[in-house]
Amino acid sequence: MNTTSVSIARRSTVSVTIGNIIVGGDNPIVIQSMTNTDTADIAATVQQVADLARAGSELVRITVNHEAAAKAVPAIREALNAQNCTVPLIGDFHFNGHRLLNDYPECAQALAKYRINPGNVGTGEKRDSQFATMIELACRHSRPVRIGVNWGSLDQELIARLMDENARAAVPREVSAVMHEAMVESAISSAERALALGLPKSQIILSCKMSGVQDLIAVYRQLATRGDYALHLGLTEAGMGSKGIVGSTAALAVLLQEGIGDTIRVSLTPAPGEARTREVVVAQEILQTMGLRSFAPMVTACPGCGRTTSDTFQHLAQNIQGYLREQMPTWRTQYPGVETMQVAVMGCVVNGPGESKHANIGISLPGSGEHPAAPVYVDGEKIATLKGEGIAEQFKRMVDEYIDSHYRRGSAN
Ligand code: SF4
Repeated sequence: MNTTSVSIARRSTVSVTIGNIIVGGDNPIVIQSMTNTDTADIAATVQQVADLARAGSELVRITVNHEAAAKAVPAIREALNAQNCTVPLIGDFHFNGHRLLNDYPECAQALAKYRINPGNVGTGEKRDSQFATMIELACRHSRPVRIGVNWGSLDQELIARLMDENARAAVPREVSAVMHEAMVESAISSAERALALGLPKSQIILSCKMSGVQDLIAVYRQLATRGDYALHLGLTEAGMGSKGIVGSTAALAVLLQEGIGDTIRVSLTPAPGEARTREVVVAQEILQTMGLRSFAPMVTACPGCGRTTSDTFQHLAQNIQGYLREQMPTWRTQYPGVETMQVAVMGCVVNGPGESKHANIGISLPGSGEHPAAPVYVDGEKIATLKGEGIAEQFKRMVDEYIDSHYRRGSAN
């Protein structure tokens, strides 16, 4: 209710179909993720792909790095299908992708897209022929490819050539500018080769991932002006915890606001034991807080201050946000539109009632010195005042009732 949805004109007009998902054009920005299991471990990979898909990943990439991994891919696809998990699988190939895709046609067929890194397809003459083999296989299997350039594996021959040219220039540019040009040139020249080899633009996605926020913004701005291609956007090696989240958000927000980016990945390093699905939640929250897509009801909560008497409202905000997200896999079909709902959980009367009125349903807990009562607002109107020990449970029940009465399929609202 208090988040403004926006429709930003996208820079790319090309749409790319990946299994049952369309990336690019006017289609919603797609969220993707990547497993960190050994792909040859079929059970572990199936489990993690299913977890990522359940969390909201619309595409999942798995590494295909050796023969055992390539052999495992068809079985992974079958096992996912058997549990009604239709999320398209993307194969991530480096060094030997031409051979694995050629030698394991069932793997090539089970994958919905191939990721090719132009910096890791070989050197010298081998690079051109191995790249061509991968493109020809993509054509044969009617699969799209992502030509994914990465700062950490940039084509060394290309960068050496551009550095030499720059050194001979009358006014040499800064090294970072040459590096940016090399990233973009690697992607664009590879895309042009793929086109020349017969792969249509509707089967090509480009990315130029860097780990620095300003570098990424500069490179994608250039990339977006160099051709009409669907773009995969992500800050590579973003890092752990808040550093990774803040860096990814800073970079992606600037570019998405400019209409650059058709599919995103947030490359977080999970803390030991942390769920891999966190990167999916962060990606969803970036898009939802920007008003670009909605995935789950969001809780607006104040930071708290000296006016809050206890951490009750913090627990309530956390409890409600977790509950809303957990319920979404079921609610998505039962309560269409519930993902746009706003819930407010506020610490006192200073901003509590105002913020609660802007939400679909909101509660303002009593601050220090206030009467021990919590007014609840529904659609801008105060409808109840909760008191006593069970405020949290009572409010949760009211949220459930609101959802059931406002979003149930076929309800008047
Ligand atoms: S709403 Fe009240 S408790 Fe929350 S930050 Fe503002 S003044 Fe502090």
